[in-house]
Amino acid sequence: MEASKRVIVSRAALVHNFALCRRQANGAGIIALVKADAYGHGMLECARLFANLGAAGLAVADAVEGVALREAGLAVPIYVLAGLAPQTVPGIVAHNLTPLVSDGAMLERLAHEAQRQKRVCTVHLKVDVGMGRQGALPEDFPELTRKALSLPAIQIGGMMAHLPKADDRNSDHSERARDAFARVSAVARALVPYPLFCHLASSGALFYVADSRFDQVRPGIALYGCYPGGAAGKKSAGAPDLRPAMSWTADILLVRQVPAGHSIGYDCTWITKRPTKMAVLPLGYADGYLRRLSNRGQVLIAGRRAPVLGRVSMNLTVVDVTDIPGVDAGDEAVLLGRQGADEITADELAGWMETINYEALCLIGRLNRRVYQD
Ligand SMILES: *Cc1c(COP(=O)(O)O)cnc(C)c1O
Repeated sequence: MEASKRVIVSRAALVHNFALCRRQANGAGIIALVKADAYGHGMLECARLFANLGAAGLAVADAVEGVALREAGLAVPIYVLAGLAPQTVPGIVAHNLTPLVSDGAMLERLAHEAQRQKRVCTVHLKVDVGMGRQGALPEDFPELTRKALSLPAIQIGGMMAHLPKADDRNSDHSERARDAFARVSAVARALVPYPLFCHLASSGALFYVADSRFDQVRPGIALYGCYPGGAAGKKSAGAPDLRPAMSWTADILLVRQVPAGHSIGYDCTWITKRPTKMAVLPLGYADGYLRRLSNRGQVLIAGRRAPVLGRVSMNLTVVDVTDIPGVDAGDEAVLLGRQGADEITADELAGWMETINYEALCLIGRLNRRVYQD
């Protein structure tokens, strides 16, 4: 059955954004981030598309996601960024996933398991140049590198760090962190008798931090068509013209007229100030149209803005279409994306939700039925 609401993912936009990132990468390989179900866009679909476009690798947060990619037949290097729990070690080795490792104890565990499986485990070593979550401190990095070199079942594929303020152009934090990373990578390259892939740049660094590309780059949000700094990032000079890949539409269930002074929704938080034509939409906070959007969000109907009236319910939302002529049940409402000359961007929607575009995309994409368009 066709659903009354859908998240639409544009393959053409993904292709466009990949090409822009590739141009921006200036020869560095692209590790395409497909964690969190590809930021809500669908991990398998996006991984296949980026691999076909020539991604040098894919990156996921958790080993379980990496196994799913292998089982779907993806053969490119798969980096496991975060979720390196002890119980994932056998699967990581068996599926030839590339974990990011911060400590010697984990290297030993991986080496032990690789020996047991008569395999070699390729790792990338992680250095902490300011994110402060994982990674070895720069001064401890030579020791971590020597540890890895001492384990015959471990191959060091490369080393990396992650920047905490890559989209903040009013700070020189990223430039200093980049220089620290360059120093550590030079030390690592001197210690390791074979070539290493060094990588630092997420989308923010790819756009805004000079000389941050090294051998590979790791764009995420940019592949999906949003700027890491939100709407402000878009305005910045030199930012390429990304194309949002996700839109979200629903069919109007019902249009009805109510008099002035009529209450709408739970808790009666909206009392109509005039005779009001309202449209009822078939979605609510269970679909990721957060309750915070009550009396605040807007949707596009017939290319015009219709404000949310009253509380967003679990499965229903009411909008005001008094000023939009000719609206009928079955007409399309756009919650995210373009309709006519207007557009509700992920940044605008996220602003109403009091969050950032990343969180809005992850939430909406994962909660809704996705449809792919070329
Ligand atoms: C998520 C992530 C990225 C991508 O960040 P974007 O801001 O989405 O480009 C890059 N590297 C690491 C380690 C990450 O966790």
